[in-house]
Amino acid sequence: MNLVAIPAFSDNYLWLWHQNGHAVVIDPGDAQPVSDFLSREGLHLDAILITHHHADHVGGVVALRDATGAQVYGPPRENIPGPFIPALPDTPFELFGQTVEVLDVPGHTSGHIAYFLPKAAPTPVLFCGDTLFSGGCGRIFEGTPAQMLASLDALARLPQDTRVCCAHEYTLSNLKFALAVEPHNPDLQAYEAQCKSLRAQLLPTLPASLGNELKINPFLRSRQPSVRQSVAQFAGLSAQDQADEVTLFATLREWKNNFR
Ligand code: ZN
Ligand code: FE
Repeated sequence: MNLVAIPAFSDNYLWLWHQNGHAVVIDPGDAQPVSDFLSREGLHLDAILITHHHADHVGGVVALRDATGAQVYGPPRENIPGPFIPALPDTPFELFGQTVEVLDVPGHTSGHIAYFLPKAAPTPVLFCGDTLFSGGCGRIFEGTPAQMLASLDALARLPQDTRVCCAHEYTLSNLKFALAVEPHNPDLQAYEAQCKSLRAQLLPTLPASLGNELKINPFLRSRQPSVRQSVAQFAGLSAQDQADEVTLFATLREWKNNFR
């Protein structure tokens, strides 16, 4: 399985996988860079997978479907350009030999889903849209902090060698915040150096490794004493509020929203 990140807009990645001339694209916010890639590589687009309804994720769906006849799969509870097959959490489906599992991950939007390929080689692959970013997580626009925390917990339980395909190149700015939260985390320091060098060569920092995210991403680490202490100190949380994991997570997200 060939996995490709097609850059679009200022910082989106339109993820695409292909094998034997057949391709699947995830969240094509723009059709042109995808069509260009397909014709350059001589690929046929068979399917389009959508994680949520935002324009930078669905903007190219109609043009690509019209041009290729690709089958569209999408979140059943979101308003996306139809017709599409509702992707349901308890109903995995197959796309040329790959099993695609669907995960409910509300928070960024209320019907956000993610796609997980448990049998992808050499390691499993996750397409998580705007739920999990390397070093960060999506803004909570429609859901609640409790939902976002539960969604991130569900992603954190996937195999550690999962390749995490996030929809945006936000890594360096996320790591700046992560280092404000955990300035003494050696894994975080090392990862920032590695990502800075990749970006200096204009290379993507993605896909991320889930195992590494568990070591460096404050939004997957909000129950760690180092993160709790830092958040409590920043916001002046009472002992009672510190003990509440949703309050702590919500405060961490709030801190990031205002961080420059
Ligand atoms: Zn979004
Ligand atoms: Fe987005």
